[in-house]
Amino acid sequence: MGHVLMAVSGPSGVGKGTLVKTIIKRRDDVVESVSCTTRAPRDGEVNGKHYFFLSHEEFQRRIDEDDFLEYDEHFGNYYGTPKSFVRETLKTKSVIMEIDVVGSLNAKKVFPECVLVMIAPPSLEELKRRLIGRNTETIEQIENRLARLEYELSHSEVYDHVIINDDFETALAEMSRILDEHAREE
Ligand code: ADP
Ligand code: 5GP
Repeated sequence: MGHVLMAVSGPSGVGKGTLVKTIIKRRDDVVESVSCTTRAPRDGEVNGKHYFFLSHEEFQRRIDEDDFLEYDEHFGNYYGTPKSFVRETLKTKSVIMEIDVVGSLNAKKVFPECVLVMIAPPSLEELKRRLIGRNTETIEQIENRLARLEYELSHSEVYDHVIINDDFETALAEMSRILDEHAREE
């Protein structure tokens, strides 16, 4: 079986993080790529585990050094995937990246074999409930993130797979099956 590079996208609050973390807990052949970002850490977020938290200057320096597989700006902050980590890890394990639509398309340009997966909510109402329930953003930030939903979902045709995260275990099993399917093709 080969190793797969999978990009997982979808609106904030849809459950991407929970799905990816659970897969990684249950499968020792899969790891998550840790992105760099210029946004401030949320409560409980650890540098080097959830993200590498960089200053704008440091992030710019890494862009100039061509250190990112892809990077993009969201809500006034930069987010990027370090290239060297992905290349090294793929030698022994599959890698999941949690990145947005633009980042996924850029990653596919560099790694054409990258599998693009979109996680979609069962409904807008349910997405709002999850975002409010998570309690990590202000109402204004939630509105900003919901406004981006239409854009993200309107690109669903560029994805290799769309998973509706309604029942969590069903969505998880689907993600795991997709990893196996593409690993067999390698
Ligand atoms: P994202 O990483 O996409 O921003 P999170 O993984 O933080 O989203 O999930 C947002 C919230 O929704 C969390 O509180 C999480 O526990 C919850 N959640 C995730 N998947 C489901 C699901 N299938 N059904 C109900 N709640 C869910
Ligand atoms: P958050 O601030 O909620 O952690 O992430 C905001 C957005 O940034 C999400 O849509 C997430 O998918 C995206 N993101 C996180 N890491 C990266 C990355 O490395 N590259 C790109 N392009 N987007 C990312």
